[in-house]
Amino acid sequence: MIVYVWGRFKFYAGESKGFRFMDALRILLQPLTAIDLSIIDNVVSVLKDTFERVIVDVNGVILSPPITVYNWHRAQYNSDKILDWLYRNTEGYGYDVVVGIGDIDAYVRGLNFVFGEASSVLKVCVVYLRRLRNEFYGLESDYNKFIERTCKEVIHEVGHVLGLNHCLTPKCVMNFSNSVFEVDGKSRYFCKQCADLLLKRGIRVRKMLA
Ligand SMILES: [Zn+2]
Ligand SMILES: [Zn+2]
Repeated sequence: MIVYVWGRFKFYAGESKGFRFMDALRILLQPLTAIDLSIIDNVVSVLKDTFERVIVDVNGVILSPPITVYNWHRAQYNSDKILDWLYRNTEGYGYDVVVGIGDIDAYVRGLNFVFGEASSVLKVCVVYLRRLRNEFYGLESDYNKFIERTCKEVIHEVGHVLGLNHCLTPKCVMNFSNSVFEVDGKSRYFCKQCADLLLKRGIRVRKMLA
């Protein structure tokens, strides 16, 4: 990459022409519970398929949330507390985004549950798998659907960490989902508007919603 500096303006030749240069986007996938390796593999491939110049590492050591972030009355984890705890336990690792993934159920104040939560300030997000399975709703198990939902939710939360808000485009991955059926209704791709916002931050996606 050649960088020309003209006065106050910088021009970058090469891939990130005209935009802030960013080295590869570094993502850490952090299991919070035992997770089937095939789930991890799928999430890693989808992340690599979503972003250009991305490095995805998986921590082979499970980081179990402490009992202090569990709400015994609700029998659910407190998602805000999990985000804080995850941040404190991974901040020294030097990743742009830390993605916690756990086979648990969690809530935030005011909501019965969340599929995931993100903080663009702390640069961490978490995806909770428990309610992404058909079995949770007494429906027949569907592994492919479960994997698809998990990948969409991971991309959605990473999008939040990268500064995106919810998007009104129905098929956009940043569209808000209140049920697994709504998750099924959207794609795992960013719409052009969301992709453009990412590009302004120096992040390029491989594919976007047609
Ligand atoms: Zn969201
Ligand atoms: Zn969008």
